[in-house]
Amino acid sequence: GNITLQRVREYVWEIPREGEMNVPARVLASESLLEEISDDKTLEQLKNTTHLPGIQKYAVCMPDGHQGYGFPVGGVAGIDSENGCISPGAVGYDINCGVRLLKTNLRYEDVRGREEELVDALFDAIPSGLGGGGVFEGTRGDIEAILEDGMEWALEQGYAVPDDLEHCEDEGKRPEADAGAVSQKAKDRGKEQVGSLGSGNHFLEVQRVTDIFREDVAAEFGLREDQIVVLIHCGSRGLGHQVCTDYLREIEQTHQGLLNRLPDKELAAAPAGSQLAEEYYGAMCAAINFAWVNRQLIMHRTREVFEDVFDRSWEEMEMELLYDVAHNIAKKEVHEINGEDQELYVHRKGATRAFPAGRPELPPAYADVGQPILIPGSMGAGSYVLRGGEQSLAETFGSTAHGAGRLMSRTEAKNTYWGEDVQDELRDQQHVYVKANSGATVAEEAPGVYKDVDEVVNVSDALGIGDKVARTYPVCNIKG
Ligand code: 5GP
Ligand code: MN
Ligand code: MN
Repeated sequence: GNITLQRVREYVWEIPREGEMNVPARVLASESLLEEISDDKTLEQLKNTTHLPGIQKYAVCMPDGHQGYGFPVGGVAGIDSENGCISPGAVGYDINCGVRLLKTNLRYEDVRGREEELVDALFDAIPSGLGGGGVFEGTRGDIEAILEDGMEWALEQGYAVPDDLEHCEDEGKRPEADAGAVSQKAKDRGKEQVGSLGSGNHFLEVQRVTDIFREDVAAEFGLREDQIVVLIHCGSRGLGHQVCTDYLREIEQTHQGLLNRLPDKELAAAPAGSQLAEEYYGAMCAAINFAWVNRQLIMHRTREVFEDVFDRSWEEMEMELLYDVAHNIAKKEVHEINGEDQELYVHRKGATRAFPAGRPELPPAYADVGQPILIPGSMGAGSYVLRGGEQSLAETFGSTAHGAGRLMSRTEAKNTYWGEDVQDELRDQQHVYVKANSGATVAEEAPGVYKDVDEVVNVSDALGIGDKVARTYPVCNIKG
């Protein structure tokens, strides 16, 4: 496009403020990642974001950024929660899409040769794909409780142990959740989906740790070479999608004045303090809780599958949650702006919170070391565990990337790859066993559709916003 970027320093690029922009915009990327980012509408969308009233400092695009609905995936915006606004498009349709990493004390040699047995057992036990139900089928009352209480509900129902809650962002519960602000249609969509991966980009992947970069932090996290871990990626399913759809429509209709001042209708926002801002925030927090329960129930099932396959209790296998991080979310957080504390709606869409040691939000386990950050790569490449970097608060409102980031559209992917061939190649050449509901999904998610995760993570590490701790590699994978 015709957007000019100025180089601020290594890996930091800026779109200077002009016209109706309230602040400049920044892209964090190496030159080659920047070239990929410049290929689609990402920069234009990022620039549009700076028109949102109350946006502070600058809009930020992470190294894995690509275009999304109105607001780029990989985008972060900190917007004043009193005089600014909140924008559902800057959170995303899959509210609290996120990842969690489950540890084990198994080693790669314990799994080697049994990958097919394991992947079959996981595929049979964990609901995935469109339809297919969930681990738990709830009544209306159950859904209300899940929306209000998040992982506390899972604990009461025997799907979680207290340690799970202590190792989840916000302890698995957003207290501002308002189930009353979630439509019946959304609740009905969620009823049959509690504990289900969903389709497409969502997955459960058994991995082995291949590299450790910071021995001391890895030891604190309980990670070591050759260890088997499980990465679970999914979100709030139809329920979250419906919440986003409902509020986008209402906000567009009610706040047309603001809408008309924005360069893109997809950025529709509710002014801070308005009734719709409050309702959307409450409904979004409820959908966040739903997603945490969703990942918890999948993890619970995963423990059961490992118990069956390896004939030991999950406690014996030390199947403990490392952490669960959200990457589609808006949260009220206090950040320092021009030397003063200010409460913001920090919108992270395809971006992960990356708080360093000392932030009050961190659980005791990570208060002194910084929070774990989980960055999936692809089913044919590495994934990473990072920890919140010291520079993240100054640079990115305490955020970093959320993945490798998509390079190729789904349509293009289906024209380029054939699912079965991708699966065969992964198995024969990389010893990675993939089982999916459809070949099309495998094609859409082929390793080649994603950017180079090593490069994304190196930018995060070099900028000190998320520090490399460990790298993993896939063993087997189930896809929605
Ligand atoms: P998103 O939330 O944007 O759909 O995806 C997050 C990231 O997950 C993607 O940017 C991609 O790097 C990564 N990813 C997608 N599929 C897989 C997979 O099967 N395995 C792993 N390890 N990562 C994946
Ligand atoms: Mn998602
Ligand atoms: Mn996601």
